[in-house]
Amino acid sequence: MTAKIIDGRKMAAELRDELAERVSRLSGKPHLAVVLAGNDEASLIYDRNKQKAAEKVGMVCDIYHLPEDVLQTELNRLIDGLNQDKNVNGIIVQLPLPVHLDAAAALRRILPEKDVDGFGLYNTGLLWTQGKAFFAPATPKGILHLLKSVSPDLSGKHAVIIGRSNIVGKPLAALLLGCDCTVTIAHSKSENLAALAASADILVAACGCAGLVRKEWVKPGAVVIDVGINRVEGKLSGDVDFDGVCENASYITPVPGGVGPMTVAMLLENTFEAYLQQSKETL
Ligand code: NAD
Repeated sequence: MTAKIIDGRKMAAELRDELAERVSRLSGKPHLAVVLAGNDEASLIYDRNKQKAAEKVGMVCDIYHLPEDVLQTELNRLIDGLNQDKNVNGIIVQLPLPVHLDAAAALRRILPEKDVDGFGLYNTGLLWTQGKAFFAPATPKGILHLLKSVSPDLSGKHAVIIGRSNIVGKPLAALLLGCDCTVTIAHSKSENLAALAASADILVAACGCAGLVRKEWVKPGAVVIDVGINRVEGKLSGDVDFDGVCENASYITPVPGGVGPMTVAMLLENTFEAYLQQSKETL
């Protein structure tokens, strides 16, 4: 078997085009505020990419760049101000924050209806209890789009997610449960990882370990989603040994060009939805 590629770049471009058309019909512009503290190089690049993508679909995206040694009280004050600002529809705090800051406290401070990353307690609770939040986290939401594009009915499938982070593994598990999947979350302490992975109809690798998932870990015909972003010898690569796994999987996402572009598109979609909810405009 040679796996078919799930083209996240193409799907994200189509979603952004649709979004641009819908934004053009609004009376105002959805406004995203990005809070960035410190000088983490990857974060700076991600946030500039988000800003460019937002502007391309007709939204406003302001980056609030705080110094590395910013105090928690100053960070809180900024978030409180953005919460109160009627022009701001969505707020995200770029992670990781410098180590002296309490990231969980910062995320908790964002109003649920502006929490377009969906990382706050309220949206997390809604996702797990109702299967639906104001906003689902962008990467898992994007993964669900990718999966549904090749397997519209996920009911009864066994999904194995390698990685239990709050931003990918756990919210993805909640979304897949909502689609009636049987979900296994594996992590760095899981035993028999290869056997767990090989029992999956849907295998999601989100652990940040380059090439961890090999051909033998993949059931013939499984759909494989590679979330990992690793830099190996100057090149981006995922958590999946792409060439080997292509021999067993039915569908696979590449790195780059799979999950990554969908994440940004989903963040913009959440910001658009925040605008609609707050403005009460309908399209
Ligand atoms: P994280 O470091 O917060 O969590 C990693 C998880 O993987 C942990 O739960 C850990 O237990 C597990 N893990 C680590 N090593 C393992 C191993 N050898 N076997 C099994 N499990 C193991 O990471 P994260 O923020 O969830 O990100 C995971 C990866 O996805 C990273 O490479 C990150 O860059 C990437 N990522 C990509 C996007 C995107 O848009 N494409 C978004 C978020 C994260």
